[in-house]
Amino acid sequence: MISDDLIIFLKKPPYGKIELSSNTIPLNSVKYLAPATPTKIILCGLNYIDHALELKMKPPQEPVIFLKPPSALIANQQNILHPAGVKRLDYEAELAVVIRKKAKNIKPREVNKFILGYTCLNDVTARDIQKKDGQWTRAKSFDTFCPVGPWCETSLDPSDLRIRSYLNGKLMQDSRTNNFIFPVDFLVSFISKIMTLYPGDVISTGTPKGVSKMKPKDRIEINIQGIGSLVNNVL
Ligand code: MG
Repeated sequence: MISDDLIIFLKKPPYGKIELSSNTIPLNSVKYLAPATPTKIILCGLNYIDHALELKMKPPQEPVIFLKPPSALIANQQNILHPAGVKRLDYEAELAVVIRKKAKNIKPREVNKFILGYTCLNDVTARDIQKKDGQWTRAKSFDTFCPVGPWCETSLDPSDLRIRSYLNGKLMQDSRTNNFIFPVDFLVSFISKIMTLYPGDVISTGTPKGVSKMKPKDRIEINIQGIGSLVNNVL
């Protein structure tokens, strides 16, 4: 747990009852880890009205979901590797959910008790490969294509949060989660009817308008109100 500039160690992993120990360490002295231990990372395609309008696409009737492998996961301040041969590497600012306990066939109104908290996620995408392949696995799955962090915020209402991305300090995306086509409770319930969710699994909720490309040496920051900033450099 973070309190001001201190990290307070937990007695055990956070998926059960959160118990604090007496051990602390200054926040500015640590190397970040991703605040989730996923067996799978599930992402939602088009889920912001503003992004659908930007793409001149009809909002989907049902969530379009896809997976990233856990091997793509990196933490705050780690580097995104620009793969050789990729011509267009995009950032996508997203709000992500971390699952607290095993969930299968849960109803939207039950979802809250299965959620540990919320974090920022960058759905890094090789856009040229996504278009070429016609499906998304290769384009979304390179190592380092899933920055998550900086931490998991456990006390947050996700229904109307400002979400922004900055490329080299320039504001690129600026929207609110009240633009969701499918809100968090619907989305988590929907996915739990397809696949069993386990503690530490990550569900990402799609990106708003303003997606663009990154190049080596760029700095990409995803900022979500009530959480903070996920910052990664491109190598
Ligand atoms: Mg996305």
